[in-house]
Amino acid sequence: MTKAYAAYNRNDRIRFQSSSGGVFHALAASVIEDGGVVFGVRFDDQFRAVYDVAEEVRELEMFQGAKYVFPCMNKVCERVGKYLEEGRRVLFTGLPCHVAGVRAYLRNADTDRLFCVDLVCHGTPENIAWESYMRYEKKRTGKISGVRMRDKSGGWTDYRLVIESKGEEAKSEPARKNLYMRGYTKDLYLRKPCYNCRFRGVERHSDITLGDYWGVSARHRKLDTAGGVSLVLVHSQKGADILEQAGKSLICEETEIEYACSHNPAITDSPDMPRCREHILAQMKKGIDFSQCIEPYIKEKFIVYIREKIRGLKNISKNR
Ligand SMILES: Cc1cc2nc3c(=O)[nH]c(=O)nc-3n(C[C@H](O)[C@H](O)[C@H](O)COP(=O)(O)OP(=O)(O)OC[C@H]3O[C@@H](n4cnc5c(N)ncnc54)[C@H](O)[C@@H]3O)c2cc1C
Ligand code: SF4
Repeated sequence: MTKAYAAYNRNDRIRFQSSSGGVFHALAASVIEDGGVVFGVRFDDQFRAVYDVAEEVRELEMFQGAKYVFPCMNKVCERVGKYLEEGRRVLFTGLPCHVAGVRAYLRNADTDRLFCVDLVCHGTPENIAWESYMRYEKKRTGKISGVRMRDKSGGWTDYRLVIESKGEEAKSEPARKNLYMRGYTKDLYLRKPCYNCRFRGVERHSDITLGDYWGVSARHRKLDTAGGVSLVLVHSQKGADILEQAGKSLICEETEIEYACSHNPAITDSPDMPRCREHILAQMKKGIDFSQCIEPYIKEKFIVYIREKIRGLKNISKNR
Protein backbone atom coordinates (compact mmCIF):
# COMPACT_ATOMS: atom_id res chain seq x y z
CA MET A 1 0.00 0.00 0.00
CA THR A 2 1.20 3.50 -0.85
CA LYS A 3 2.80 5.52 1.97
CA ALA A 4 3.21 9.29 1.88
CA TYR A 5 5.98 11.55 3.20
CA ALA A 6 6.77 15.26 3.44
CA ALA A 7 10.48 15.63 2.62
CA TYR A 8 13.20 18.04 1.57
CA ASN A 9 16.92 18.04 0.88
CA ARG A 10 19.20 19.05 3.78
CA ASN A 11 21.45 20.89 1.30
CA ASP A 12 19.98 24.41 0.84
CA ARG A 13 21.68 25.00 -2.52
CA ILE A 14 20.30 21.77 -4.02
CA ARG A 15 16.87 22.50 -2.58
CA PHE A 16 16.88 26.03 -4.04
CA GLN A 17 17.77 24.69 -7.52
CA SER A 18 14.93 22.15 -7.36
CA SER A 19 11.24 22.76 -8.05
CA SER A 20 9.93 21.27 -4.81
CA GLY A 21 12.05 19.92 -1.95
CA GLY A 22 14.94 18.49 -3.98
CA VAL A 23 14.09 14.85 -3.22
CA PHE A 24 14.86 13.89 -6.85
CA HIS A 25 18.51 14.92 -6.34
CA ALA A 26 18.85 12.94 -3.10
CA LEU A 27 17.45 9.73 -4.69
CA ALA A 28 19.50 10.15 -7.86
CA ALA A 29 22.78 10.91 -6.05
CA SER A 30 22.41 7.83 -3.85
CA VAL A 31 21.87 5.59 -6.92
CA ILE A 32 24.94 7.04 -8.68
CA GLU A 33 27.10 6.76 -5.54
CA ASP A 34 26.15 3.08 -5.52
CA GLY A 35 27.42 2.60 -9.10
CA GLY A 36 24.13 3.16 -10.91
CA VAL A 37 22.94 5.58 -13.60
CA VAL A 38 20.04 8.04 -13.67
CA PHE A 39 17.73 9.01 -16.55
CA GLY A 40 15.99 12.37 -16.46
CA VAL A 41 14.92 15.32 -18.62
CA ARG A 42 17.13 18.25 -19.64
CA PHE A 43 16.93 21.04 -22.20
CA ASP A 44 19.10 20.61 -25.32
CA ASP A 45 20.84 23.57 -26.99
CA GLN A 46 17.60 24.42 -28.89
CA PHE A 47 15.58 24.31 -25.60
CA ARG A 48 13.78 21.15 -26.60
CA ALA A 49 13.19 18.83 -23.61
CA VAL A 50 14.96 15.47 -24.02
CA TYR A 51 15.61 12.42 -21.86
CA ASP A 52 19.28 11.80 -21.12
CA VAL A 53 21.45 9.83 -18.73
CA ALA A 54 23.75 10.95 -15.89
CA GLU A 55 26.56 8.76 -14.58
CA GLU A 56 28.05 11.34 -12.21
CA VAL A 57 26.46 13.35 -9.40
CA ARG A 58 27.63 16.68 -10.86
CA GLU A 59 25.64 15.92 -14.05
CA LEU A 60 22.34 15.82 -12.11
CA GLU A 61 22.07 19.60 -12.28
CA MET A 62 20.85 19.35 -15.91
CA PHE A 63 17.78 17.39 -14.75
CA GLN A 64 16.89 19.64 -11.79
CA GLY A 65 13.83 21.86 -12.07
CA ALA A 66 10.58 21.09 -13.88
CA LYS A 67 10.46 21.86 -17.61
CA TYR A 68 6.83 22.41 -18.63
CA VAL A 69 7.47 20.90 -22.04
CA PHE A 70 6.78 17.43 -23.47
CA PRO A 71 10.13 15.60 -23.64
CA CYS A 72 11.46 13.61 -26.58
CA MET A 73 12.05 9.96 -25.60
CA ASN A 74 15.37 9.86 -27.51
CA LYS A 75 15.52 5.99 -27.70
CA VAL A 76 15.36 6.00 -23.92
CA CYS A 77 13.79 2.52 -23.53
CA GLU A 78 16.62 0.86 -25.48
CA ARG A 79 19.21 2.81 -23.50
CA VAL A 80 17.67 1.78 -20.16
CA GLY A 81 17.60 -1.86 -21.35
CA LYS A 82 21.28 -1.73 -22.31
CA TYR A 83 22.40 -0.51 -18.86
CA LEU A 84 20.31 -3.24 -17.20
CA GLU A 85 21.93 -5.90 -19.42
CA GLU A 86 25.33 -4.60 -18.27
CA GLY A 87 24.20 -5.28 -14.69
CA ARG A 88 23.99 -1.59 -13.70
CA ARG A 89 21.30 -0.19 -11.38
CA VAL A 90 19.11 2.25 -13.30
CA LEU A 91 16.91 5.01 -11.88
CA PHE A 92 14.44 6.19 -14.53
CA THR A 93 12.72 9.48 -13.68
CA GLY A 94 10.05 11.04 -15.88
CA LEU A 95 6.40 11.54 -16.73
CA PRO A 96 3.92 8.88 -15.53
CA CYS A 97 3.00 7.94 -19.14
CA HIS A 98 6.71 7.49 -19.98
CA VAL A 99 7.35 5.35 -16.90
CA ALA A 100 4.48 3.12 -18.06
CA GLY A 101 6.08 3.03 -21.55
CA VAL A 102 9.50 2.02 -20.19
CA ARG A 103 7.93 -0.69 -18.02
CA ALA A 104 5.94 -2.04 -21.00
CA TYR A 105 9.01 -2.05 -23.29
CA LEU A 106 11.05 -3.97 -20.68
CA ARG A 107 8.30 -6.40 -19.65
CA ASN A 108 10.38 -9.44 -20.70
CA ALA A 109 13.70 -8.11 -19.40
CA ASP A 110 15.28 -8.62 -15.97
CA THR A 111 14.19 -5.42 -14.18
CA ASP A 112 15.36 -6.25 -10.63
CA ARG A 113 17.84 -3.36 -10.86
CA LEU A 114 15.37 -0.88 -12.38
CA PHE A 115 13.85 1.84 -10.14
CA CYS A 116 11.18 4.16 -11.52
CA VAL A 117 10.26 7.60 -10.18
CA ASP A 118 7.40 9.51 -11.81
CA LEU A 119 6.04 13.00 -11.14
CA VAL A 120 2.67 14.32 -10.17
CA CYS A 121 1.76 15.62 -13.63
CA HIS A 122 -0.71 18.41 -14.35
CA GLY A 123 -0.16 17.78 -18.09
CA THR A 124 2.35 18.80 -20.77
CA PRO A 125 1.82 21.45 -23.45
CA GLU A 126 1.72 20.70 -27.19
CA ASN A 127 5.22 21.26 -28.63
CA ILE A 128 3.88 23.91 -31.00
CA ALA A 129 2.97 26.08 -27.97
CA TRP A 130 6.52 25.93 -26.57
CA GLU A 131 8.05 26.59 -30.03
CA SER A 132 5.71 29.53 -30.58
CA TYR A 133 6.55 30.97 -27.13
CA MET A 134 10.31 30.58 -27.72
CA ARG A 135 10.00 32.44 -31.06
CA TYR A 136 8.14 35.24 -29.25
CA GLU A 137 10.82 35.41 -26.50
CA LYS A 138 13.71 35.36 -29.02
CA LYS A 139 12.18 38.37 -30.77
CA ARG A 140 12.10 40.25 -27.45
CA THR A 141 15.31 38.97 -25.87
CA GLY A 142 17.67 38.04 -28.70
CA LYS A 143 19.76 34.89 -28.31
CA ILE A 144 18.56 32.80 -25.36
CA SER A 145 21.22 30.97 -23.35
CA GLY A 146 19.17 29.51 -20.47
CA VAL A 147 15.60 28.93 -19.28
CA ARG A 148 14.49 28.19 -15.70
CA MET A 149 10.79 27.55 -15.22
CA ARG A 150 10.71 27.13 -11.43
CA ASP A 151 13.10 29.77 -10.14
CA LYS A 152 12.62 30.17 -6.38
CA SER A 153 14.09 33.66 -5.86
CA GLY A 154 10.49 34.87 -5.22
CA GLY A 155 9.86 31.86 -2.95
CA TRP A 156 8.64 28.31 -3.56
CA THR A 157 4.98 29.23 -3.98
CA ASP A 158 5.54 32.41 -6.02
CA TYR A 159 8.02 30.88 -8.45
CA ARG A 160 9.39 32.73 -11.47
CA LEU A 161 10.26 31.95 -15.07
CA VAL A 162 13.76 33.16 -15.91
CA ILE A 163 15.14 33.68 -19.44
CA GLU A 164 18.90 34.15 -19.69
CA SER A 165 20.78 35.60 -22.64
CA LYS A 166 24.57 35.96 -22.84
CA GLY A 167 25.90 39.39 -21.89
CA GLU A 168 22.43 40.64 -20.85
CA GLU A 169 20.68 40.78 -17.51
CA ALA A 170 18.40 37.77 -17.06
CA LYS A 171 14.68 38.42 -17.58
CA SER A 172 12.76 37.15 -14.58
CA GLU A 173 8.97 37.17 -14.29
CA PRO A 174 6.59 35.64 -11.72
CA ALA A 175 5.01 32.57 -13.36
CA ARG A 176 1.55 33.98 -12.56
CA LYS A 177 2.31 36.91 -14.92
CA ASN A 178 4.25 35.03 -17.60
CA LEU A 179 2.23 34.41 -20.79
CA TYR A 180 3.40 30.84 -21.36
CA MET A 181 2.80 29.78 -17.75
CA ARG A 182 -0.59 31.51 -17.64
CA GLY A 183 -1.68 29.66 -20.76
CA TYR A 184 -0.33 26.41 -19.28
CA THR A 185 -2.04 26.74 -15.91
CA LYS A 186 -5.29 27.69 -17.71
CA ASP A 187 -4.94 24.41 -19.67
CA LEU A 188 -5.18 26.25 -23.02
CA TYR A 189 -2.76 24.05 -24.96
CA LEU A 190 -2.12 20.74 -23.20
CA ARG A 191 -1.65 17.60 -25.27
CA LYS A 192 -4.97 15.81 -25.87
CA PRO A 193 -4.26 12.73 -23.67
CA CYS A 194 -3.55 15.00 -20.68
CA TYR A 195 -7.24 16.02 -20.49
CA ASN A 196 -8.15 12.40 -19.86
CA CYS A 197 -4.97 10.92 -18.45
CA ARG A 198 -4.94 7.19 -17.67
CA PHE A 199 -1.83 7.51 -15.50
CA ARG A 200 -3.23 9.61 -12.67
CA GLY A 201 -4.22 8.17 -9.29
CA VAL A 202 -2.52 7.37 -6.01
CA GLU A 203 -1.41 3.91 -7.17
CA ARG A 204 1.17 4.07 -10.00
CA HIS A 205 3.45 2.09 -12.34
CA SER A 206 6.40 3.69 -10.51
CA ASP A 207 8.19 2.88 -7.25
CA ILE A 208 7.99 6.50 -6.08
CA THR A 209 5.95 9.56 -7.15
CA LEU A 210 7.24 13.09 -6.47
CA GLY A 211 5.23 16.30 -6.39
CA ASP A 212 4.90 19.61 -4.56
CA TYR A 213 3.45 19.24 -1.08
CA TRP A 214 1.02 22.18 -1.22
CA GLY A 215 -0.65 22.82 2.14
CA VAL A 216 2.23 21.21 4.05
CA SER A 217 2.75 24.01 6.59
CA ALA A 218 -0.70 23.47 8.18
CA ARG A 219 0.10 19.78 8.83
CA HIS A 220 3.83 19.78 9.58
CA ARG A 221 4.25 22.91 11.68
CA LYS A 222 7.81 22.11 12.80
CA LEU A 223 9.17 21.70 9.25
CA ASP A 224 10.93 24.63 7.57
CA THR A 225 8.58 24.77 4.58
CA ALA A 226 9.49 28.10 2.94
CA GLY A 227 12.23 26.66 0.71
CA GLY A 228 9.95 24.02 -0.83
CA VAL A 229 8.72 20.62 0.31
CA SER A 230 8.23 17.50 -1.80
CA LEU A 231 5.34 15.13 -1.49
CA VAL A 232 6.79 11.61 -1.75
CA LEU A 233 4.45 8.71 -2.48
CA VAL A 234 6.15 5.34 -2.00
CA HIS A 235 4.42 2.51 -3.87
CA SER A 236 6.74 -0.50 -3.50
CA GLN A 237 9.47 -2.11 -1.41
CA LYS A 238 12.02 -0.93 -4.01
CA GLY A 239 10.74 2.62 -3.51
CA ALA A 240 11.06 2.28 0.28
CA ASP A 241 14.63 0.96 -0.16
CA ILE A 242 15.89 3.86 -2.30
CA LEU A 243 14.18 6.42 -0.05
CA GLU A 244 15.92 4.84 2.94
CA GLN A 245 19.24 4.80 1.07
CA ALA A 246 18.87 8.55 0.32
CA GLY A 247 17.66 9.23 3.87
CA LYS A 248 20.90 10.80 5.14
CA SER A 249 20.41 13.70 2.67
CA LEU A 250 16.77 14.32 3.59
CA ILE A 251 14.52 15.71 6.29
CA CYS A 252 11.54 13.37 6.02
CA GLU A 253 8.28 12.93 7.97
CA GLU A 254 5.45 10.51 7.25
CA THR A 255 2.23 12.30 6.30
CA GLU A 256 -1.46 11.61 5.85
CA ILE A 257 -2.08 10.60 2.24
CA GLU A 258 -5.71 11.84 2.05
CA TYR A 259 -4.72 15.30 3.31
CA ALA A 260 -1.78 15.60 0.88
CA CYS A 261 -3.87 14.50 -2.11
CA SER A 262 -6.72 16.85 -1.21
CA HIS A 263 -4.29 19.78 -1.77
CA ASN A 264 -3.01 18.44 -5.07
CA PRO A 265 -5.80 17.73 -7.60
CA ALA A 266 -3.32 16.82 -10.37
CA ILE A 267 -2.64 13.51 -8.59
CA THR A 268 -6.09 12.22 -9.41
CA ASP A 269 -7.97 14.65 -11.71
CA SER A 270 -7.51 15.68 -15.33
CA PRO A 271 -8.31 19.27 -16.33
CA ASP A 272 -11.22 20.07 -18.68
CA MET A 273 -10.33 20.76 -22.32
CA PRO A 274 -11.23 24.39 -23.12
CA ARG A 275 -13.27 25.01 -26.29
CA CYS A 276 -10.73 27.55 -27.56
CA ARG A 277 -7.84 25.01 -27.61
CA GLU A 278 -8.16 23.96 -31.27
CA HIS A 279 -8.39 27.56 -32.41
CA ILE A 280 -5.31 28.60 -30.40
CA LEU A 281 -3.23 25.71 -31.77
CA ALA A 282 -4.38 26.45 -35.34
CA GLN A 283 -3.28 30.09 -34.91
CA MET A 284 0.11 28.96 -33.62
CA LYS A 285 0.54 26.61 -36.59
CA LYS A 286 -0.08 29.57 -38.90
CA GLY A 287 2.87 31.34 -37.22
CA ILE A 288 0.77 34.04 -35.54
CA ASP A 289 2.58 35.74 -32.66
CA PHE A 290 2.26 33.78 -29.37
CA SER A 291 0.90 36.73 -27.39
CA GLN A 292 -1.82 37.36 -30.01
CA CYS A 293 -2.83 33.69 -29.92
CA ILE A 294 -3.45 33.51 -26.20
CA GLU A 295 -4.05 37.02 -24.87
CA PRO A 296 -7.83 36.99 -25.64
CA TYR A 297 -8.17 33.89 -23.44
CA ILE A 298 -6.21 35.04 -20.40
CA LYS A 299 -7.55 38.60 -20.30
CA GLU A 300 -10.09 37.81 -17.62
CA LYS A 301 -7.33 37.01 -15.11
CA PHE A 302 -5.37 40.08 -16.18
CA ILE A 303 -8.39 42.29 -15.49
CA VAL A 304 -8.73 40.67 -12.06
CA TYR A 305 -5.01 41.38 -11.49
CA ILE A 306 -5.39 45.06 -12.47
CA ARG A 307 -8.49 45.36 -10.24
CA GLU A 308 -6.49 43.87 -7.35
CA LYS A 309 -3.66 46.35 -7.98
CA ILE A 310 -6.09 49.30 -8.00
CA ARG A 311 -7.76 47.99 -4.83
CA GLY A 312 -4.27 47.65 -3.23
CA LEU A 313 -3.37 51.24 -4.15
CA LYS A 314 -6.69 52.52 -2.73
CA ASN A 315 -6.02 50.66 0.55
CA ILE A 316 -2.52 52.17 0.78
CA SER A 317 -3.87 55.72 0.31
CA LYS A 318 -6.71 55.05 2.85
CA ASN A 319 -4.19 53.91 5.48
CA ARG A 320 -1.99 56.96 5.04
C1 LIG B 1 5.27 18.86 -16.82
C2 LIG B 1 5.24 18.77 -15.32
C3 LIG B 1 4.05 18.98 -14.63
C4 LIG B 1 4.01 18.88 -13.23
N1 LIG B 1 2.82 19.10 -12.59
C5 LIG B 1 2.78 19.02 -11.23
C6 LIG B 1 1.56 19.26 -10.52
O1 LIG B 1 0.52 19.60 -11.11
N2 LIG B 1 1.57 19.14 -9.16
C7 LIG B 1 2.70 18.78 -8.48
O2 LIG B 1 2.63 18.65 -7.25
N3 LIG B 1 3.88 18.54 -9.12
C8 LIG B 1 3.95 18.67 -10.47
N4 LIG B 1 5.14 18.42 -11.13
C9 LIG B 1 6.30 17.92 -10.36
C10 LIG B 1 7.09 18.99 -9.61
O3 LIG B 1 7.16 20.18 -10.39
C11 LIG B 1 8.54 18.54 -9.36
O4 LIG B 1 9.18 18.21 -10.56
C12 LIG B 1 8.62 17.32 -8.47
O5 LIG B 1 7.98 17.61 -7.26
C13 LIG B 1 10.08 16.92 -8.19
O6 LIG B 1 10.68 17.97 -7.54
P1 LIG B 1 12.12 17.86 -6.84
O7 LIG B 1 12.30 19.13 -6.09
O8 LIG B 1 12.27 16.58 -6.10
O9 LIG B 1 13.13 17.74 -8.05
P2 LIG B 1 13.36 18.68 -9.31
O10 LIG B 1 14.80 18.91 -9.40
O11 LIG B 1 12.52 19.83 -9.35
O12 LIG B 1 12.84 17.74 -10.46
C14 LIG B 1 13.65 17.11 -11.36
C15 LIG B 1 12.95 15.91 -11.91
O13 LIG B 1 11.92 16.32 -12.83
C16 LIG B 1 12.18 15.70 -14.07
N5 LIG B 1 11.62 16.52 -15.14
C17 LIG B 1 11.77 17.86 -15.33
N6 LIG B 1 11.07 18.25 -16.40
C18 LIG B 1 10.48 17.15 -16.92
C19 LIG B 1 9.64 16.90 -18.03
N7 LIG B 1 9.26 17.87 -18.86
N8 LIG B 1 9.24 15.63 -18.26
C20 LIG B 1 9.62 14.63 -17.43
N9 LIG B 1 10.40 14.81 -16.36
C21 LIG B 1 10.82 16.05 -16.10
C22 LIG B 1 13.68 15.54 -14.11
O14 LIG B 1 14.07 14.55 -15.01
C23 LIG B 1 13.94 15.09 -12.68
O15 LIG B 1 13.59 13.75 -12.53
C24 LIG B 1 5.21 18.56 -12.52
C25 LIG B 1 6.41 18.39 -13.21
C26 LIG B 1 6.44 18.48 -14.60
C27 LIG B 1 7.75 18.28 -15.32
S1 SF4 C 1 -0.98 14.25 -17.93
FE1 SF4 C 1 -0.78 12.07 -18.32
S2 SF4 C 1 -0.65 11.86 -20.53
FE2 SF4 C 1 -0.22 14.00 -20.03
S3 SF4 C 1 2.02 14.08 -19.88
FE3 SF4 C 1 1.21 13.76 -17.81
S4 SF4 C 1 1.24 11.55 -17.55
FE4 SF4 C 1 1.46 11.92 -19.74
